[in-house]
Amino acid sequence: MNEPLTPSLPTSCCSVDSATNATPDGSTNWKDLAARVLTGHAITKEEGLAILGCPDEELLDLMSAAFKIRHHHFGKHVQLYFLMNAKSGLCPEDCGYCSQSKISDAEIPKYNLLNKQKLLDGARVAAERQSKTYCIVISARGPSDREMRAVTEIVPQIKEKYDLKICACLGLLNDEQAAQLKACGVDRVNHNLNTSEEFYQTICSTHTYQDRVATLDAVREAGMEMCSGGIVGMGEKPEDVVNMAFELRDLGVHSIPVNFLNPIEGTPLSEEGKLTPRQCLKTLALFRFANPDREIRIAGGREIHLRSLQPLGMYAANSLFVGDYLTTKGQPPEADYEMLEDLGFTVQRMEETVSPSMK
Ligand code: SF4
Repeated sequence: MNEPLTPSLPTSCCSVDSATNATPDGSTNWKDLAARVLTGHAITKEEGLAILGCPDEELLDLMSAAFKIRHHHFGKHVQLYFLMNAKSGLCPEDCGYCSQSKISDAEIPKYNLLNKQKLLDGARVAAERQSKTYCIVISARGPSDREMRAVTEIVPQIKEKYDLKICACLGLLNDEQAAQLKACGVDRVNHNLNTSEEFYQTICSTHTYQDRVATLDAVREAGMEMCSGGIVGMGEKPEDVVNMAFELRDLGVHSIPVNFLNPIEGTPLSEEGKLTPRQCLKTLALFRFANPDREIRIAGGREIHLRSLQPLGMYAANSLFVGDYLTTKGQPPEADYEMLEDLGFTVQRMEETVSPSMK
């Protein structure tokens, strides 16, 4: 098993001294790095590792710098997402972090694709909760013909009734399936890379990292937006997290959900997920610095890992899931609205303009 994500890195990673971001006392000038990112600098691997290894004493400076980038592209807007677990459990894949996989003994609800009324009801809840996007998720290696038919029939009905964007997360897709989703009105497809290419085989053996990249290629080719992110806390190294953030940058994904492993009993990774709230903040800052104008969403594990520091995460991220996750509970939506109001942030709805670079 690889060593867990740690906040301390070799000195060579942390003492940045190039044309860079070092202050006379040797600490990193995060503000300068943010300014360089805003003028087009793509952070290097060393800089990414330095962000993850940021000393706790500099954490507020780091988050302030991340906020400069976030604010430049998104102001104080927050985009909310609502997840519908449209088919739960029964998945033939063996992703070690997932409670819905064939190798998981976790006690979760197991059911086949929900009927149309339930999917419509979910869309109504998404709209009531001020979500911009309704995410329809199924547990599967990829969608069956029947599931494709059901999704392509319901999406136009949802869009006719509600002012929502639709994101579909249906597993691996081929070009034809991606084209069908585009044709029925799906705006975006989620397919997470989850970790680095190097670490991928440690968490899954039934499909490859390249399979996942191929699905994202199909989504891009079909003309839909790509939503893809990852999970930290699975036993990967800091390099894996940086490599994943850079791969997402290179693939040009539009939206990046950052999950913090919620170790579920009955899954192979039930002993992992040992993260501190400060590590989570540094991870969010890394994704903001590496993907400055992309939507960064704090996803699963937010409540249990960031805990009382959740509001600070919003200085790097600009998006949240409101409500429950796929098989775990989120905090009540009212707590999220209150947090955003306390921060002075506003929920961005469908009709409002997004960062020009996101179009
Ligand atoms: S493919 Fe998706 S639903 Fe299936 S085990 Fe992997 S993460 Fe879970």
